[in-house]
Amino acid sequence: MFKRVLIANRGEIAVRIFRACRELDIEPVVVYSEADREALHVQLAEQAFCIGPARSADSYLNLDAILTVAKATGCDAIHPGYGFLSENDTFADACAQEGITFIGPSGDVIRAMGNKAAARKLMQQAGVPVVPGSDGAVDTAEQAKALADSIGYPVLIKASAGGGGRGMRRVFDPEQLIPLFEEARSESEACFGSGEMYLEKLILNPRHIEFQIMADRHGNVIQLGDRDCSIQRRNQKLLEESPSKALTPELREQMGAAAVAAAKAAHYENAGTIEFVLDPEGHFYFIEMNTRIQVEHPVTELVTGMDLVREQIRVAAGLPLSRTQEEVQLHGHAIECRINAEDPARNFQPCPGKVEFVHLPGGCGVRVDTCLYNGYELPPYYDSLMAKVIVHAPTRLEAIRRMRRALEELIIEGPATNADLLHQILHHPDFVRGNYNTGFLEANMQTLLAWSNSGEAREA
Ligand code: ADP
Ligand code: ADP
Ligand code: MG
Repeated sequence: MFKRVLIANRGEIAVRIFRACRELDIEPVVVYSEADREALHVQLAEQAFCIGPARSADSYLNLDAILTVAKATGCDAIHPGYGFLSENDTFADACAQEGITFIGPSGDVIRAMGNKAAARKLMQQAGVPVVPGSDGAVDTAEQAKALADSIGYPVLIKASAGGGGRGMRRVFDPEQLIPLFEEARSESEACFGSGEMYLEKLILNPRHIEFQIMADRHGNVIQLGDRDCSIQRRNQKLLEESPSKALTPELREQMGAAAVAAAKAAHYENAGTIEFVLDPEGHFYFIEMNTRIQVEHPVTELVTGMDLVREQIRVAAGLPLSRTQEEVQLHGHAIECRINAEDPARNFQPCPGKVEFVHLPGGCGVRVDTCLYNGYELPPYYDSLMAKVIVHAPTRLEAIRRMRRALEELIIEGPATNADLLHQILHHPDFVRGNYNTGFLEANMQTLLAWSNSGEAREA
């Protein structure tokens, strides 16, 4: 096992990885930007090093500074968390060159799956269903137009390098295809430094269903069940649950097998997620693979009883998976709510600033992963996720009730949060029935905000 691991991240996930290291008797080394001197991960750690100014490009994305700290402190491995360098193939390669283990798949695998247009091809070859669309990238807006005309509208223009819901445009009207293609391409160039685009048919009223995968160096691949992440705003997840209400045992079995086949085709190692969209008729299609730990991994931890970050570290150290597929059983129901510093009433404007007071929920079946403490000043430079409230209960309805009461206990004074909006979602009859898709939030936003303003949650 590793002696010392560098945590190349910040926020709640840095704290999450810190805890896994301590429980494995590994010395965590943390890094931070000038804006994060007071961050919780820095306060917890005995060894903390400043790697540069606030801007991510100068600190958390600064490969050289991070590798320099890792070498100087004698770290055996680096855990990248999510976001930042977690899906950066150059960084994974650089770690390997320095003889430091990157806790994740190899640079080659990250490259292969990181190009979403190329990943579609690989999956098709492996017999995994993909959304009808382009065969690889489309070079020009005119080619995209010709292809869209033959696939049929609506279509979705996507960025090969995309992530975080950016670089995507839905097209319903053929007249709009060329301008929207150019718009998506500019956004992708600005966000990801790449203008490579591809095309998919837009699946109407889909659910986002993903499968957690774990693979070791010895050829073992297991899937740890599904997560339903259909509660999204602008293609970004807000609430996730496991298991999905939309899957029959047969469909779960089929999709799980497809996820394992996908990971095997990619020669995958470590934790990963295979994302699918599921149409209302029960057809599922691969959309992408995320080659890292995900924000929503705790719901899987609660239904499987497996510590995924610990497992990541173990397999990176060369140990075999701690469970076989037969030993993986899903128990009960788990839900996660992402608590963001943003104001739903003001178009979700980010609200950084001082957290005057925080009280976190607790009690039976409640877990909170957060970087907050009383008096903490949320810096404005990074994403707005500040806490994840996760609940586990025997049934879905009990989990919903548990999450409602957990959010009622949560107090955050200072920045505006989306906690009340989440509370309203948990009372919406369609959510309670499990009858929702990725359009739920947009379709119901006005109602939810009105309930929120009236100060009274509706009982479903
Ligand atoms: P998850 O499925 O783990 O929730 P998200 O798409 O919400 O994935 O992204 C998790 C985090 O990673 C967010 O902080 C998001 O901003 C960031 N992220 C995702 N994809 C990219 C990318 N390609 N480049 C940079 N950051 C990304
Ligand atoms: P990102 O890398 O930004 O996470 P994804 O390819 O995973 O991008 O797509 C993000 C979200 O966009 C999905 O969760 C889903 O809600 C929606 N989406 C993606 N592809 C399609 C599609 N072909 N049809 C309908 N919705 C889609
Ligand atoms: Mg995705």
